[in-house]
Amino acid sequence: MSIAEEKPIEIDGSYGEGGGQILRTALALSAILKRPFTIHHIRSKRMNPGLQAQHLEAVEALAQITEAKTEGVKFGSQTISFCPKEIISGDYHFEVKTAGSVILLLQAIFLPLCLAQGPSRVTLVGGTHVPWSPPFHYFLRVLLPTLEPMGISVDAAIEKWGFYPRGGGRIQLNINPAQELKPLHLTDRGSLKRIWGLSARSNLPRHVAERQKDQAVQRIQKELNIEPEINVLHDVSSNGPGSFLFLLAEHEKAFAGFSSLGKKGKPAERVADEAVDDLKDYLRSGGGIDLYLSDQIIPFMALTKANSSFTTARMTGHLLTNLWVVSHFLQVRVEKQGEAGEPGRVDFIPPTY
Ligand code: ATP
Repeated sequence: MSIAEEKPIEIDGSYGEGGGQILRTALALSAILKRPFTIHHIRSKRMNPGLQAQHLEAVEALAQITEAKTEGVKFGSQTISFCPKEIISGDYHFEVKTAGSVILLLQAIFLPLCLAQGPSRVTLVGGTHVPWSPPFHYFLRVLLPTLEPMGISVDAAIEKWGFYPRGGGRIQLNINPAQELKPLHLTDRGSLKRIWGLSARSNLPRHVAERQKDQAVQRIQKELNIEPEINVLHDVSSNGPGSFLFLLAEHEKAFAGFSSLGKKGKPAERVADEAVDDLKDYLRSGGGIDLYLSDQIIPFMALTKANSSFTTARMTGHLLTNLWVVSHFLQVRVEKQGEAGEPGRVDFIPPTY
């Protein structure tokens, strides 16, 4: 039976978290496994349901990379079909016209390109530091080093930052593909090596970045009894104003990242407080990885040929929903421990043939 004739997997986009991640994970797995799928009710739980700029660009980008046949792919669409051919490595340039997150776009195309036959060079233009999505520095400092032991080798650089609402940031990736993903266990983070961070500002007064840093340093010293190393970046290149604080907790065996963005009327100290509060929650939880990584790592671990596992600071809606998406495409057995919203553990046990 040719791919085009194969019955598509049906996905209900309103399940669980009901957000864009259901679509992006389905796209990535469909491309890797060459399994067509149809998704209905896309982002039906969001205020602005259907494909928005970032989701539309993700589908179109992966359709280009896999020469896919698609149906229903237009702005606002709540049902699409996707039927991929091969993953074609090479040079790509994709642009999200709004401040839509290019890192979320990557959630659709990154894993397929990591498992392609040859290397790829990808330029992405759009939002790099925008709310409700992984900032570029999370991708660089948390996701990439976590994936390295799985065999994924990627260089990533930022040339221009894209803050909300202007967007227009620019990042570049060089992806050296892996033959297959090595299993990974992130159940014990080991002891804390350091807390490292960045406080950045663009088109805003100098004191914004300094105050973010000072507040974070003071609280981490006082409340955690740790001396953090936080670098200040003044005048990062971007199309509009923005400020950003990022904290990396580097343990012997795990990386975790916490960030916050400035906005008009939000004091720099509050920006720092948000990231520090998240860092403290994670350190207290004892989880192997942070709550964001725990949903993002799922498609990678689910594809390993031997058992993989993690413990997490929180069993989030994104995590549980992403496991559900994976179950449509892969035979992997998943064992979950922990209630929704609580710390937990996930084990991936691939089938033995
Ligand atoms: P929508 O559902 O509106 O389409 P979306 O497409 O923006 O939203 P979601 O389905 O909500 O995406 O997925 C958001 C993703 O961003 C998740 O993988 C989540 O872990 C990640 N994320 C959100 N905030 C952060 C953060 N501060 N640091 C790292 N990752 C984050």
